[in-house]
Amino acid sequence: MPELPLERWINPEILAQPAYQVKISSHRIKLNQNESPWDWPQPLKEEVLRRLGQAAWNRYPELRPQGLKEKLAAGLSLSPEQLVLGKGSNEVLQAILRVALPPGEILCTLSPTFAIYRLLGEQQRARLVEVPLTADFQVNDKNLLAASKAARITILCNPNSPTGSLLPLELIERVARQTTGLVIVDEAYVDFSGVSALPILEHYPNLIITRTFSKAFALAGFRLGYALMHPQLAAQVHKGLLPFNIDVAAIIAAEVLLDHPEIVAERVRLIIRERDRLIARLDKMPGVTAWPSRANFFLLATPLGPRETFAQLAERGILVRDVSDYPGCAQVVRVTVGTPDENEALVQAVKELL
Ligand SMILES: *Cc1c(COP(=O)(O)O)cnc(C)c1O
Repeated sequence: MPELPLERWINPEILAQPAYQVKISSHRIKLNQNESPWDWPQPLKEEVLRRLGQAAWNRYPELRPQGLKEKLAAGLSLSPEQLVLGKGSNEVLQAILRVALPPGEILCTLSPTFAIYRLLGEQQRARLVEVPLTADFQVNDKNLLAASKAARITILCNPNSPTGSLLPLELIERVARQTTGLVIVDEAYVDFSGVSALPILEHYPNLIITRTFSKAFALAGFRLGYALMHPQLAAQVHKGLLPFNIDVAAIIAAEVLLDHPEIVAERVRLIIRERDRLIARLDKMPGVTAWPSRANFFLLATPLGPRETFAQLAERGILVRDVSDYPGCAQVVRVTVGTPDENEALVQAVKELL
């Protein structure tokens, strides 16, 4: 096949981007995407299926699912007008950048951080300003404050991925107070850290919080996320989304499962306990470093290096994420905390490969 003249048909910033990839090999233990290791109980899945069976599949879903928004907003003590729903929080993030980040303006992020921010920023033709974390993955306050000052949008992932490190709320507040632009706090892992910008949302009209159903809530398969912001901002961000973005299955699943916060809370408690136990055990092994984390994952370095660690664990059926191509992460893989049995298998596997 002849080479297509792609530079004539495709935007240059797209041609320059690598395609988003997740390396999946055959595995029995999946610790690579920070999902919940537990699916929802079967009776609740059946209740979702029952309601889905009663829904009209030939009709469009609600334009902006009001019942779901009211339920979510009530749980957060906010008004539904402050909420924007997306097909995953990444879709809301994309919509925010689409409506609020003109070409040439500054998008400020940490580095390393969630790779999607850069991809979306480049697609807006923004100027990326990345604030490097220290060698032990902590933020330098002064550098962040300086870089975010004139940024059109600053995105702070808290706790940060892939590092698991946490920004103090005071710092987020200072960023929001001194910047002329918007500040997005990506709280995909907030359940595991307990530190949220929600209490200060009403004080900073330039503050936006994004959250997802994909991690602690164990609903990655349905693709649902949301953002919280001032109602006047929300009205504009909706314009950056296509109509009917949330399908009827996701609406029903979320409505049913939001009635069972006790299930999520209990699992979060267990994951936090497992995380701290796992990090302590691994970090004690000779030549092994497991970084402290406030999320449901952590960074791990072994004497074998990241590629070989990934390969050796994969050989034992354990899939982790090789993040060694992230800035400052040349020595590490990222490991999601699993069930107690899965974590035990990981510990044994790491012992073996040493
Ligand atoms: C997983 C993740 C999300 C969630 O993405 P969805 O589109 O909601 O599945 C957002 N931000 C970060 C940092 C994540 O790791």
